[in-house]
Amino acid sequence: MPKATVKDVLEHATKHRYGVAAVNTLNIETVKYVIEAAQREKMPVIVQFYPGFQDYTSLKHLAFCACDMAEGATVPVAVHLDHSSSYDIAVSGIRDGFPSVMVDGSVLSYGENAAMTKAVVRVAHVFGVDVEAELGHVGDASREEDMDNTDLYTPVEQAVAFVEETGCDALAIAVGNAHGPYVKTPNLDFDRIRAIRAAVDIPLVMHGCSDIPDAQLQMAVNLGMSKFNIATEYFRAMYRALEKEIAAKTFDGSAVGLMMHIREPMIRFVAEKIRLLNPNGFSL
Ligand SMILES: [Zn+2]
Repeated sequence: MPKATVKDVLEHATKHRYGVAAVNTLNIETVKYVIEAAQREKMPVIVQFYPGFQDYTSLKHLAFCACDMAEGATVPVAVHLDHSSSYDIAVSGIRDGFPSVMVDGSVLSYGENAAMTKAVVRVAHVFGVDVEAELGHVGDASREEDMDNTDLYTPVEQAVAFVEETGCDALAIAVGNAHGPYVKTPNLDFDRIRAIRAAVDIPLVMHGCSDIPDAQLQMAVNLGMSKFNIATEYFRAMYRALEKEIAAKTFDGSAVGLMMHIREPMIRFVAEKIRLLNPNGFSL
């Protein structure tokens, strides 16, 4: 199947009231498990990569590998570059083959964020690349104030102006969600999600979905959010699977045996997330 675009996948999800798991990856194996899980569940999926990991895996290698595997998949698989904090990083992602990029100016002023987003959109759209932007600021889940401070949340009226001014294709919003392991259980602002969904006509993105309670994630899906970023929990699942097999010494000294054995728990983790994000039982 030709690789899907993030824009098409998210518009389809918004229309059919399901959420798409957008899973962060760091190497060939982590990309492969995500795609295998989506194929098993017969649902679309997004494979993404955080540019902060590029000392570990280059943007170019990950983009090439993920796009090649997406083309061989039996379900729509889209490939995305997460959190580009500057114009240069976002454009490097386009140069290196990512068919979708996020430009994250959420720590900047409204004007600076809008200007940087607009500049990236202008280049990206020439190459047929989708752009996700962020308004409001999704902070760090280890800091309570990042979760509770409503000054960081996405203002509804500003979201309308931002989408119109920048031409971005999807918008990440801050509604009590945050990145990394949560210091306390998040409490999403559903009224704000409802208001933003009614006010803008592009897909909405939730960052920091790891460890958000299942019922809250499903509520966000039912309120019309469509991209759900999962990094912390996926990498934790990998760590735990490796830890368990190493402790059991099942494959003592065999890295190949060890890596092959963590495949199934990793696929199962992603498959469960895909099912969770599909509370209305959509199927392709
Ligand atoms: Zn994020």
